Amino acid sequence: MASIPKRIKLEGGNDTLAVEWSDGHLSAYRYQNLRDRCPCATCTGAEGGPARAQTTSNPLPMFKQAPRPMRVEMVGRYAVQIYWNDGHSTGIYTFQYLRDLCPCAECAALRSA
Ligand SMILES: [Zn+2]
Ligand SMILES: [Zn+2]
Repeated sequence: MASIPKRIKLEGGNDTLAVEWSDGHLSAYRYQNLRDRCPCATCTGAEGGPARAQTTSNPLPMFKQAPRPMRVEMVGRYAVQIYWNDGHSTGIYTFQYLRDLCPCAECAALRSA
């Protein structure tokens, strides 16, 4: 049975999004990490273009600000949508996907099992 987030908290102080799951598990995601894993078509390259702009000759001159969620909204009963400070908001993170991204040692062990 899939867990669902009971509480989602943005902790700006240490740049993490904290999720308390229905099974009591706690996850803390770095904003940067979440932004990098945005599952939308644009970020994953599903629209046919390259997944990401090549930055070899152009090392992120536009990237003044670290990614930060402006707000997080529930999408039905299966996902959350994150509105980023860079204006990006098409990423729908399903609960399952979010849980799979949990960086804690416990979940890492489960994934590698
Ligand atoms: Zn995206
Ligand atoms: Zn975990």
